[in-house]
Amino acid sequence: MSTGKRRPLVVGNWKMNKGPQEADALAVQLKVVIQDYPAVDVGVAPTFLALPAVAERLKHTAVQVVAQNCHPEVSGAYTGEVSPEMLRQLGVTWCLVGHSERRQIFGESDSFVGQKVRGCLRAGVLPILCVGETLAERDAGQAEAVVQRQLDAGLAGLPTDQLASVTIAYEPVWAIGTGRNASPQQAQEIHAFIRSYLEDRYPPFVSRSMRILYGGSVKGSNAAGLLGQADIDGALVGGAALTRDDFVAIVAAAHQRGS
Ligand code: PEP
Repeated sequence: MSTGKRRPLVVGNWKMNKGPQEADALAVQLKVVIQDYPAVDVGVAPTFLALPAVAERLKHTAVQVVAQNCHPEVSGAYTGEVSPEMLRQLGVTWCLVGHSERRQIFGESDSFVGQKVRGCLRAGVLPILCVGETLAERDAGQAEAVVQRQLDAGLAGLPTDQLASVTIAYEPVWAIGTGRNASPQQAQEIHAFIRSYLEDRYPPFVSRSMRILYGGSVKGSNAAGLLGQADIDGALVGGAALTRDDFVAIVAAAHQRGS
């Protein structure tokens, strides 16, 4: 278990919701209200199509812009894809990598996810590496083994000085979009496992500084319990990120932890 205090990070993943106008409207609301929570880093992840409008709207504000996905390469014959370099040019700070919906619906492998992590770092975009087990894997007692396998591939080949630029998001697949969140204790157990994975392999500053977010049906009503855990440094939020008040309630809980 970690005793270090890291600045909380809350990221709203809007998934395939909100076209450019709707996304911009929510960005307009958030850029004002988020100023009240200076102890938290906050980011929002619109669709690629809405990224330019949201990036423009949130320029020089406290809310960072996050991409939901990327391709590892800089450019080339990859129809339909967007490179980390293009995201950086737009002012994107973080990029989700290996979200379970990408792994499950679009068949992304652990090693492809690792390539994306490295591609983001090459371009100067900070990757948020998502890991987490399915219900069947948890029931079979494999949660830690699955997370370890995903971390092995996701962090493979990274020089130590780049590791601190990576954020991990633990998102048990059975808790995403299901309304069924992991209990604070269940989440803390895996977060502590991830922290000790880092401690065992890298110099102490890596495990002390790397943020590990929890994701899976986080809401205003359960955020304080989750964020009160020693190794939970923030939240990756799906459904509750789509409306201002629900999202702000989670940011407020993170602010309590951070102040
Ligand atoms: C997510 O999409 O990363 C997520 C955690 O979704 P939800 O909060 O809706 O479970």
